[in-house]
Amino acid sequence: MENKKLTVFWFRRDLRLNDNCGLYHALKQGENVVGLFIFDTNILDKLDDRDDPRVTFIHDQLNSLKLSIEDRGGSLWVKHGIPLEVWKSLIDTNEIGSVYINHDYEPYAVGRDQGIAEFLKTKGISFFSFKDHVIYEKDEVVKADHKPYTVYTPYAKVWRARVNIDEDKGRSPFQSFASESFVNEWFRGGKSNIPGLDKIGFQRSALHIPPKEVPKSLIRSYSENRDLPGIQGTSRLGIHFRFGTISIREKANAARLLSPVYLNELIWRDFYASILYHFPQVESRAFKPAYDNILWRNNEEEFKRWCAGQTGYPIVDAGMRELMNTGFMHNRVRMIVASFLTKHLLIDWRWGEAWFARKLLDFDLASNNGGWQWAAGSGTDAAPYFRIFNPTTQQEKFDPALTYVKKWVPEYNTAQYPKPIVDHKEARERCLNTYKKGLAFHSNQE
Ligand code: FAD
Repeated sequence: MENKKLTVFWFRRDLRLNDNCGLYHALKQGENVVGLFIFDTNILDKLDDRDDPRVTFIHDQLNSLKLSIEDRGGSLWVKHGIPLEVWKSLIDTNEIGSVYINHDYEPYAVGRDQGIAEFLKTKGISFFSFKDHVIYEKDEVVKADHKPYTVYTPYAKVWRARVNIDEDKGRSPFQSFASESFVNEWFRGGKSNIPGLDKIGFQRSALHIPPKEVPKSLIRSYSENRDLPGIQGTSRLGIHFRFGTISIREKANAARLLSPVYLNELIWRDFYASILYHFPQVESRAFKPAYDNILWRNNEEEFKRWCAGQTGYPIVDAGMRELMNTGFMHNRVRMIVASFLTKHLLIDWRWGEAWFARKLLDFDLASNNGGWQWAAGSGTDAAPYFRIFNPTTQQEKFDPALTYVKKWVPEYNTAQYPKPIVDHKEARERCLNTYKKGLAFHSNQE
């Protein structure tokens, strides 16, 4: 066994052993399987906060993965650097026969994985990649003409129909890839230490991470409670879906019985992953190109007040302060603050998107971009530009007893609380005029 070539499973956004598709296949076919994780400096170097809680979270997950793998007689290598360079040095020092991963659909990751697959090929190393992060991917849910859906409702309809077809054919998309039965195939590929957070340029964050188990009762009452930010009516599993510390197949399968409304949200997640995969340009541009002609005001002082939760609109400020203090913000409030930034303040959605990317524990490029473009009106399924949330009526509707507002804005209704940054009516008019002009400019150009 010792002389055989190694099979490497490269963990990325799938930090778990159980029901991990790529890992299952690596363990099933290959002997001498070693785990690998790379702290990718191309990603880490772009992070603004040295105590970024997502880095602490990954670090903690790796420590527990390493223990679980070592308990099974294997090894987890943890490296720090540019992935291609790390791979070059790994194959210089090890006999590697094959590499297994799960697909990642973000543009950077797609390019990175292609480059590495090509490099490994030149070295005679096989490279295998699997679907794990979503239920349906790429071209699995597309229109009859094979073009991708750009509207959620028909996408979700076909998504659900496809589940039935697949199940009739005996290939359920929720089928679990339980790796435990293959535990003996792990290989002790030498002793390896996880570099400390300080060695990779970070410090420990003290932010609380929501647990990965939620009571069934919460999911059962999801449809009644999910729009109320004052109670915990949603699962807060976002960070676990993002880093794969839970299995989407397991959760989606459970949701089928417990709450179809919860399942719909997981279908939104697939939908946005599919949009990013098919339209990678959305990472920097409006999905609807006309919206790139809007002349944003981009007032930096106002942006700072929005970030700090000092706009004088209590539901907006509560949301922004929740985000700052916990790394979480309720979905309803995400919609309100995003609409407020883009429409009331006329600040480019990309500014808000970047702030969320910096602060959200569950930050995910596909869903974040989808959410922001929806709010700005420029995206798939987007709220029409003339639909401008009124933050006051939103608050009256979804936080009528001010439970949420009082929690995050204790000085609300006192002299310390700032006056509204803009008048709602004036901001609404200004927004409509600015959007109209931008969109008219575009149609004149065509
Ligand atoms: P729950 O309501 O319990 O839902 C369960 C899971 O379903 C979520 O964890 C998430 O994986 C998925 N989900 C729920 N709603 C959506 C949705 N609208 N779109 C896609 N997936 C969804 N979600 C992210 O995962 N990462 C982001 O960076 C992100 N940024 C957003 C930005 C804006 C402006 C908006 C309006 C929404 C954003 N969302 C994002 C979607 C949604 O707000 C969060 O998924 C949800 O609030 C996370 O809380 P939860 O885990 O309690 O979700």
